[in-house]
Amino acid sequence: MNGLNVTAIFGENVFGDSVMQDRLPKDIYKQVQLTIKNGKKLDINVANVVANAMKDWAVEKGATHFTHWFQPMTGITAEKHDSFISPVDVGKVIMEFSGKELVQGEPDASSFPSGGLRATFEARGYTAWDPSSYAFIKDGVLCIPTAFCSYSGEALDKKTPLLRSMEAINKQALRVLKLFGRDDVTSVRTTVGAEQEYFLIDKDIYDKRKDLIYTGRTLFGAKPPKGQDLDDHYFGVIKPQVQSFMKELNEELWKLGILAKTEHNEVAPAQHEMAPVFTTTNIAVDHNQLTMELMQKIAKKHDMVCLLHEKPFAGVNGSGKHNNWSISTNTGLNLLEPGDTPYENAQFLLFLCAVIKAVDDYQDLLRISVATAGNDHRLGANEAPPAIVSIYIGEELSAILEAIETGTPYGGTEKEMLKVGVKILPKFPKDTTDRNRTSPFAFTGNKFEFRMLGSSISLSGPNVVLNTIVAESLKQFADILEPADDFDQALESLIKETIKEHKRILFNGNGYDESWIEEAGKRGLLNLKSTPDALPYFLHKKNVDLFTSHKVFTKEEMESRYEILMENYCKVINIEALTMIEMVKKEILPAVSAFSKELSDALLAKKNIAEDISCQYEDSLIHKLSAMLSCAYDKVSLLEKDTVDAKDMTDITEMGHYYREKVFADMAELRIVIDELETITAKTYWPYPSYGHLLFGIR
Ligand code: ADP
Ligand code: MG
Repeated sequence: MNGLNVTAIFGENVFGDSVMQDRLPKDIYKQVQLTIKNGKKLDINVANVVANAMKDWAVEKGATHFTHWFQPMTGITAEKHDSFISPVDVGKVIMEFSGKELVQGEPDASSFPSGGLRATFEARGYTAWDPSSYAFIKDGVLCIPTAFCSYSGEALDKKTPLLRSMEAINKQALRVLKLFGRDDVTSVRTTVGAEQEYFLIDKDIYDKRKDLIYTGRTLFGAKPPKGQDLDDHYFGVIKPQVQSFMKELNEELWKLGILAKTEHNEVAPAQHEMAPVFTTTNIAVDHNQLTMELMQKIAKKHDMVCLLHEKPFAGVNGSGKHNNWSISTNTGLNLLEPGDTPYENAQFLLFLCAVIKAVDDYQDLLRISVATAGNDHRLGANEAPPAIVSIYIGEELSAILEAIETGTPYGGTEKEMLKVGVKILPKFPKDTTDRNRTSPFAFTGNKFEFRMLGSSISLSGPNVVLNTIVAESLKQFADILEPADDFDQALESLIKETIKEHKRILFNGNGYDESWIEEAGKRGLLNLKSTPDALPYFLHKKNVDLFTSHKVFTKEEMESRYEILMENYCKVINIEALTMIEMVKKEILPAVSAFSKELSDALLAKKNIAEDISCQYEDSLIHKLSAMLSCAYDKVSLLEKDTVDAKDMTDITEMGHYYREKVFADMAELRIVIDELETITAKTYWPYPSYGHLLFGIR
């Protein structure tokens, strides 16, 4: 068999560093590097040369079009293709691409959500090249990664605030590192490795489910005899159809320079996971968007559909995305890695404390960063992590922090007093095993794993929050340490104080346990159960102060984002409600009614043969079906009425709560009746493929 030459294809569709070195004149290459590293504005003459080289490279690879590839607030990526052709003489064209076209674009953007930021009379936003992400070719189109802003400079996308948040943490971390004498460090960046979960189901079966087509999840479906009870899917043998999908996915990801690394079956039947090797945060975000897009596209080629919804099926695990996050320096130092010397360990402890403090101070923002209608089915619903934010650091590190805080000896047989920054601080055990899978935010040896993300969301939001809140802790630390006369002393008391003040956020126990909810309440931790509960916290003063002071969002940008997020929640629930109504009224009730007619006909026919013949089956089933039909009809009518009433609401916050507390509750009630009807209606009558088909339909 001819093996795939991975090293040869890796990054072949990316206009990356080596291509630039090959194809750009030396001085131009240098200028581009300056732009990439320091954000120096690109001179138009330089841009012209780069654009031309990019175009030649892309055309050689079969590309005919280019696009500014951006990430509007819809959460997915957007592109508008322009061809390279430019007319010369009559009936002739050449392929052209100018520096101006590379650097800035003007998509007609009036239909993207802007939450009132962009009045329609100035509907045009503009896109601007982000040279820190390389251009790439996808389906014959040269894609230029860009940020998307309004003409007055407000961010209309998910990339701009992310880049700003990376700058914020860079600035504050450098201040702190300087205090540790690390003058060699000139930049600090956060890194992300995202584990992506997804479901694969048969395309023909999918096509028969309106709910999956319109909403990405099943709105009805009785439990199959077998679900994930036996845990026999987890890490199980991968089926050939899925294997061929994964093979093609890996190849396409590698060509785009995406470090696809591990793949395996997940807990639920038909569920899988892909994890890449970690990289710089903004690149990891771009790559995850491309990964989700390719998963969906490639699944179709293999007669399957890839579901990225957080909860496609009731009763089996939903899908999440684990955001592994760390901070590292341009000198290759991971700041969340315990070191070998006491001083390195003191520095590690300070960064660890920065994260602990940040997560405690801004639990609400972390919760909001993962709040969507889809993710509400996971968080706080007895699976995945709970809606309460807490940190797992393991027993070992907990004991160390406790010893530092209380000034008591630590260690096995030879107990030692711990003093930060001076010799007697021991080498930390590098415990990378992470035993607690129920924690929403776990320290896993040299990084934190934020596990509350839903499978479909952009990684941008959670990382904007993580970067900014840790930047704020570091800022406060630097403000205290910079003027200190005795650095070691100040450092020690700062670490002690931080542990004392924020240890309530540390929890090593079972996050699914009922008793934790009670305990967390006593500790004063937030438990924001749903999206409408969580979102209003976004505009609290402390959060507005945070984002504006670090120049990540303006107040106006925050207000518009709040509106977009809440509106999106309402729209999702509304679409689900309308889909349910249509399925029930147009297909399910008529089908059940037809089935009871068949039973009635059978009953009458039997009675014609003999008056005293037993008709117990038909008789009792007809009664049951009729009663449930009436009940379902009542419930669907109520859902319809409440959905219509929602239209009259003007206040977006009120509307969000209304959708959650009324419409969503109606939907849950309706589903109970319909799912039971499915279990007693003959298979030939039920209009949709069953859960059994959906979950076990792949060969
Ligand atoms: P697992 O969680 O399956 O045990 P790992 O902990 O090795 O696997 O890694 C999970 C993810 O964390 C991978 O995507 C990996 O690249 C990423 N990761 C590892 N180190 C870092 C880091 N320093 N920063 C960000 N992500 C990281
Ligand atoms: Mg992991």
